[in-house]
Amino acid sequence: MAYKITDDCIGCGACEPECANEAISEDAGSYVIDPDKCTECVGNFDKPQCVDVCPADACVPDPEHEETREGLLAKWRKLHPNEAPSVA
Ligand code: SF4
Repeated sequence: MAYKITDDCIGCGACEPECANEAISEDAGSYVIDPDKCTECVGNFDKPQCVDVCPADACVPDPEHEETREGLLAKWRKLHPNEAPSVA
């Protein structure tokens, strides 16, 4: 499932450059994740990179966007049509 950023976000921006899908953006002093671009890092890494760098533990799975690993990989392929996944 896609991840989301909770109200615990302190707006530090540490997560934004870590996302290989450019799914994270700033919004009114906080940060948000676009569920259409978040693949839980499937395709690039073996675990969500934003979770690792967030000092506020604000990046969490979003139960409103449940997806299979196959679905996440298909999403990744659409976002990166000219690349091969490094982690599938
Ligand atoms: Fe980006 Fe990965 Fe975080 Fe999703 S889990 S927003 S793909 S860094």
